[in-house]
Amino acid sequence: MNDMSHFSTGISILEIAYVIASVLFIVGLRMLSHPLTARRGNIFAAFGMGLAIIATIVFHQKEGEPIRNIPLILAAISIGTVIGWLIAKRVKMTAMPQLVSFFNGMGGAAAALISIMEFPHISHELIAKSGMANGQVLAILLGLLIGTVSWAGSMIAFGKLDGWIGDMRVKAMKYVNLFILAVLIGLIVFIMTRNVQASAELTPYVYLIFGISVIYGVLFVMPIGGADMPVVISLLNSFTGVAAAMGGFLYNNQAMLTGGILVGSAGTILTILMCKAMNRSLLNVIVGVFGGGGQSSLDVAGSVKEISLTDAAVLLSYSKKVVIVPGYGLAVAQAQHICHELDKLLEEKGVEVKYAIHPVAGRMPGHMNVLLAEADVPYEQLIESDEINPDLPNTDVLVVIGANDVVNPAAEDDPSSPIYGMPIIKARDARNIIVMKRGMGKGYAAIENMLFFNSKTRMLFGDAKGTLQNLVNEVKHL
Ligand code: NDP
Repeated sequence: MNDMSHFSTGISILEIAYVIASVLFIVGLRMLSHPLTARRGNIFAAFGMGLAIIATIVFHQKEGEPIRNIPLILAAISIGTVIGWLIAKRVKMTAMPQLVSFFNGMGGAAAALISIMEFPHISHELIAKSGMANGQVLAILLGLLIGTVSWAGSMIAFGKLDGWIGDMRVKAMKYVNLFILAVLIGLIVFIMTRNVQASAELTPYVYLIFGISVIYGVLFVMPIGGADMPVVISLLNSFTGVAAAMGGFLYNNQAMLTGGILVGSAGTILTILMCKAMNRSLLNVIVGVFGGGGQSSLDVAGSVKEISLTDAAVLLSYSKKVVIVPGYGLAVAQAQHICHELDKLLEEKGVEVKYAIHPVAGRMPGHMNVLLAEADVPYEQLIESDEINPDLPNTDVLVVIGANDVVNPAAEDDPSSPIYGMPIIKARDARNIIVMKRGMGKGYAAIENMLFFNSKTRMLFGDAKGTLQNLVNEVKHL
């Protein structure tokens, strides 16, 4: 890696381009925090990334020479662009969470590849000066470990979200994972304390770290199930950011460093929020030992009661306060627009309508916010679960639309439940509960929901979009 940070000409333009790109990333990220500006924020950040890539190709120099292999680089960019564009264009909205996981994994893989490519080229001068124990070697090895774990873990998360990988739970998993982590750290220490002439002599150990990191990435995500996937998804997100930041440090590339740090820190903040939302500890996530498809010990008692469309329309229209709890089923049915039409109709009749947003509803962090923003539901109408819970006893009707786990009282009542301890929307506190879903299907955590058997609950079976359309028609005719 002979002095990759040294540029002789074009230095100022390149550095200015990186500063502009970094500013665009930061501004873009800031704008992502509000639905009204999120779309523009995304464009800003993408523009920054485009600028950084073009500036690097045009102005980057190594030992006074411009970049070689430009045709190969352009070919790789073109192939990646076409594939990415086609996938993004064709993906169904409901498959978005898996796609996000897949793309996140690709970021981790890119960071790992950088490390594998650069390790044999660490400069002889550096090794002569400090041996293998220096910042560059550490950045390469950490980039490899974290990037590979992120890639392998994201591929498993992709499979789980897509439904073709189940949970694999082995009792001793915690110890196996801790052992593997210790081996990985041991290998890094081993490499950094070797006395060699050239780093290439240690390349086999780098492949070993790669292989073991793949195993760790798979094993740490495999047991995670139940309702705990959101935590691991945000954690993998932050891993990719940290791995990319290692690459930025290695190449002394400010844009890559800023981008990596932003993704890493945003992912970490999200992980902490998700841990809080799920009431889980971060340490348990890292060694992959929580959640899962355990079975509740509560017996299903009682029967479910249905409500007719007309009765539901009357109940809603003559209420003072209605709270809608959207969940994954609303996204599957793509019923957000018709749902907003219902809330507008009710508001025209003088009913106060709010949405109760659970942080892990849906299949990706912020899923419900994105979905409802797409339907132009005003942001002020969306209330976080802990904020709306105290208000639920005064709520006339709570309408659950395609949500299940996030309103499951087992999280409060049943210590043997895999979701026990997860804060929920306390739906059963409302005066009346209407649940819209297709049948008695379970949620992501695959457990029974006693809310559906509650004496205050009435079911309105059917696809959420069709049911909401029929309900809107009924409300209009009242
Ligand atoms: P759930 O997955 O618990 O439940 C969704 C419900 O929607 C199902 O019970 C299903 O019942 C119903 N449904 C499906 N399709 C339709 C449709 N077309 N019309 C009407 N209803 C439908 O969703 P929640 O949002 O309550 O909870 C999210 C779960 O996903 C949590 O366990 C969370 O931890 C997990 N998760 C969240 C992630 C995140 O980042 N947010 C990531 C990964 C997992 P039926 O089949 O009877 O219709």
